[in-house]
Amino acid sequence: MTDQLAGGCACGAVRYRLGSAPMFVHCCHCRDCQRQTGSAFVLNALIETDRVELQSGDPQPFAMPTDSGRPHHIFRCPTCGTAVWSDYGDRKVLRFVRVGTLDDPTALTPDVHIYVRSKLPWVALPEGVPAFEAYYDSKKLWPAESLERRRALLG
Ligand SMILES: [Zn+2]
Ligand SMILES: [Zn+2]
Repeated sequence: MTDQLAGGCACGAVRYRLGSAPMFVHCCHCRDCQRQTGSAFVLNALIETDRVELQSGDPQPFAMPTDSGRPHHIFRCPTCGTAVWSDYGDRKVLRFVRVGTLDDPTALTPDVHIYVRSKLPWVALPEGVPAFEAYYDSKKLWPAESLERRRALLG
């Protein structure tokens, strides 16, 4: 059986495994994510840092400029530069793992589409998945179990 929740960078130096399913998966269409990925959106799986088992490599943080002034660090393989996850708000305990770096990126699908006000016009959103012009209220959208995990993590 392949390990659906394992992943890594392009050169193979960074390898990781998620210890469980994430709490929630964002598809973010904001301009920052578009610019930072060079693509239409980013796919972020929100998960506790201690459930991201780093098996090899040493992703290094790169500070991104933000409008809000809240810190955002993108962690990249120091050899090939692939972005594997982010830390938003310098919270350390919470990772936003980039779903496209999974060995099987079909394993996780977005639970929500955010910042669709800047969505590229040719991107068609799927029916039945919540979408918001900007951010959203996780208390209204996340399953109870995920909210409990978030409370345990962030208080
Ligand atoms: Zn690499
Ligand atoms: Zn974004």
